[in-house]
Amino acid sequence: APPAMQSPGELSGGARPHVMFIPSAGMGHLLPFFRFIAALANHDVDISVVTVLPTVSAAEADHFARLFEAFPRVRRVDFHLLSLDASEFPDDDDPFCLRWEALRRSAHLLGPLIAGATPRVSAVITDVTLTSHVVPIAKELHVPCHVLFISCATMLSLLAYIRVHLDKKAEPGRGVGDVDIPGVRHIPQSYLPQSLLDLSKLFTKQFIDNGREIINADGCLVNTFEALEPVALAALRAGKVVPGFPPVYAIGPLKSHTSTANDKPETTSFPVAWLDEQPARSVVYIAFGNRNTVSRDQLREIAAGLEASSSRFLWVLKTTNVDRDDNAELTDVLGDGFLERVQGRGLVTKAWVDQEALLKHPSVGMFLSHSGWNSVTEAAAAGVPLLAWPRGGDHRVNATVVVSGGVGVWMELWRWDGEEKLVSGEEIGEKVKEVMSNVAVRARATRTGEVAAMAVAEGGTSYRSLQEFVGKLKAT
Ligand code: UDP
Ligand code: UDP
Repeated sequence: APPAMQSPGELSGGARPHVMFIPSAGMGHLLPFFRFIAALANHDVDISVVTVLPTVSAAEADHFARLFEAFPRVRRVDFHLLSLDASEFPDDDDPFCLRWEALRRSAHLLGPLIAGATPRVSAVITDVTLTSHVVPIAKELHVPCHVLFISCATMLSLLAYIRVHLDKKAEPGRGVGDVDIPGVRHIPQSYLPQSLLDLSKLFTKQFIDNGREIINADGCLVNTFEALEPVALAALRAGKVVPGFPPVYAIGPLKSHTSTANDKPETTSFPVAWLDEQPARSVVYIAFGNRNTVSRDQLREIAAGLEASSSRFLWVLKTTNVDRDDNAELTDVLGDGFLERVQGRGLVTKAWVDQEALLKHPSVGMFLSHSGWNSVTEAAAAGVPLLAWPRGGDHRVNATVVVSGGVGVWMELWRWDGEEKLVSGEEIGEKVKEVMSNVAVRARATRTGEVAAMAVAEGGTSYRSLQEFVGKLKAT
């Protein structure tokens, strides 16, 4: 019989894998996927990306478009969600968590997409928020399924262990309590994502279900590196957290790759031009991620603190969880006269910036951050000291790694969302000045940046993990 059509990969000997990515929603979830996809695209792998349009935020739509533009060979697989009746969740108003739920409830429709793709799908990589729905579907089709975990390994250990922890509690009604993750660390209840304290929350149900199912995944890729979280990684791999945990590949810090060197998005140019004019390490960069709002009163205190610190600063300010809803005027938020008073030494923007690139700019001296995990890894990679002010979710757990990993310092007593007391401008200003001038903190952060660079450089731990993973893809 005549030979069947062969792809170039097959002609050259090794089977060319076809990986189908099933990401979820929120830039904190999508960016690490896009970065990993870009890394894999350089490894002779066929790639499809399940894409749900419209996205929740404008930033997500924009970044999906840029991915497909930069990597024309990456296939877009359109996926239409079943509608979700939001009135079913009167206590859950986070649009991203609701999108995760819509994806989860539509997940059975993914089976035909996976089974029907050509060339045959040889592996699925999905987001943690979809784990409990996607892993069983891939299993049924005998397609290996990996989870790309977008937070730290410590958070992964909490996710894996939470079910065991809850089962151990004699009286489930008595709250979650402190969590002692075997082999990893003690997590006080106050560090847990706020919603986890309420077992009726949608986030909590998803978290528990995903934690239970992740053990059945074929592996977890984590955006961290050996030297940053040696204890958590070792405990997960040794089965100390939960027995039989799947292989863990530490492949971070993930970074952006573009297909062409001069592919510079418009939005980067304006803060970069301003940064270019500032002295080395003189600028405080302030940002709280893509979906965290800080109360108006607290924003005013931050403004007062920056003004009092007399530092130069670049502040990326968001006033709503979803960018499309952000109509606030900066002068209304910051008060009359603020922008005039700081003119020349302070820049405030509501635009999307290329944070990863900004952190690498030589003028940036520190990062006041909510310690979302992507922000932490970007600061670590840039060697910029991070002043962690957690706002919610996994931020406090991440902040423990900021401290243990030498990324920066954590203001443990600074309040987060839902806690009443404001942090005063005076205190913020003093702390900013202190971190900016702290030689020891800067030296540690610089060292962490060097270690991060070694991890992803040829022969480094994350480099080898990725090679190992690609080898496994090609073997199946
Ligand atoms: N980000 C960015 N520009 C912005 C806002 C956010 O590049 O204007 C990026 C940021 O660099 C990070 C991600 O969006 O990679 C946000 O993820 P993170 O885990 O830090 O926080 P989250 O938004 O998920 O709370
Ligand atoms: N997460 C998880 N399992 C889930 C849902 C979330 O492990 O089912 C983790 C994920 O790492 C996420 C973190 O919990 O980053 C906190 O979620 P949050 O609601 O703060 O949103 P995010 O930080 O993703 O923007």
